[in-house]
Amino acid sequence: MTDSRTRLLGLIGDPVEHSLSPRLHSFLLARAGLNYCYLAFRVPEASLGEALSGMRALGIRGVNVTIPHKEAVIPFLDELSPAAEAIGAVNVIVNEAGRLRGHNTDWEGFLKALDSRGVGLCGRKAVVVGAGGAAAAVVYALVSSGAEVAVVNRTPSRARALARRFSSLGSVTHGGLHDLAAFLREAELLVNATPVGMTPHAEESPVPADLLREGLVVYDLVYNPPETKLLRDAGERGCLAIGGLEMLVYQGIRALELWTGHRFGDEDAASALKHLEGVLRG
Ligand code: NAP
Repeated sequence: MTDSRTRLLGLIGDPVEHSLSPRLHSFLLARAGLNYCYLAFRVPEASLGEALSGMRALGIRGVNVTIPHKEAVIPFLDELSPAAEAIGAVNVIVNEAGRLRGHNTDWEGFLKALDSRGVGLCGRKAVVVGAGGAAAAVVYALVSSGAEVAVVNRTPSRARALARRFSSLGSVTHGGLHDLAAFLREAELLVNATPVGMTPHAEESPVPADLLREGLVVYDLVYNPPETKLLRDAGERGCLAIGGLEMLVYQGIRALELWTGHRFGDEDAASALKHLEGVLRG
């Protein structure tokens, strides 16, 4: 129920119809009894500047930013958090009395799922498959935590560009998909940051099953389906398998904390995760 004090939050992207964010945020806001409302706004690229002016004019407290605007939104903002600046992408905007500050909470969400399982990263070797926006947040998270990272990508020049971007922060090498086996032999963590394995292509995996070995931590950013072929293969070979839904929940919780000041606990995260699994099962 809304009243004259209800504050507005939302999502801007194009398309937004399939996003889980309204389900996630509405669930958590209701659970915490916070007087906010969260709506999805489809904003074509040409209207991005107007949408952000509208956000200022209407006093919308905050929005998530999704594909294809995570980079394009930056010139319209007043300031960036250091992480958003380093990653070069914004997934959360906070409106502080008309000043719009861009944040990136994807990298924090990514780390939280590892942290909650006690997976240490300092000095560990990690392989990231993919070199797009999600991979940038993951590589930033990993090098900031002291991991040694190898980025492999279908288009090797994009892996090289990503590695160069973060090389001042730590150890980042790069290669093409043909280098995957060699990098994986040394690695303790594998991250899929490509959409391979996503519904409706749930029978595909970005990594051949015979490259997975016992003890490897396998983290798939894909969250639909919650258990991908890569994660099933990983489980069968004695790896620790982590799905992308947790990262989605934790990045969303971090955004809500920035907007509302409310602190969410582990139980909130666990019940949001269950809620989204139910939504995806239909
Ligand atoms: P993106 O910027 O479009 O990048 C996609 C990457 O995947 C590129 O490196 C691309 O390689 C590679 N790729 C695409 N199709 C491929 C294929 N068939 N074989 C091999 N590589 C392929 O996308 P993104 O925003 O980084 O998102 C990547 C995935 O992460 C999506 O599934 C998204 O849903 C997921 N994600 C999850 C969360 C979460 O919270 N769990 C957050 C963000 C993103 P090229 O460079 O060669 O095109």
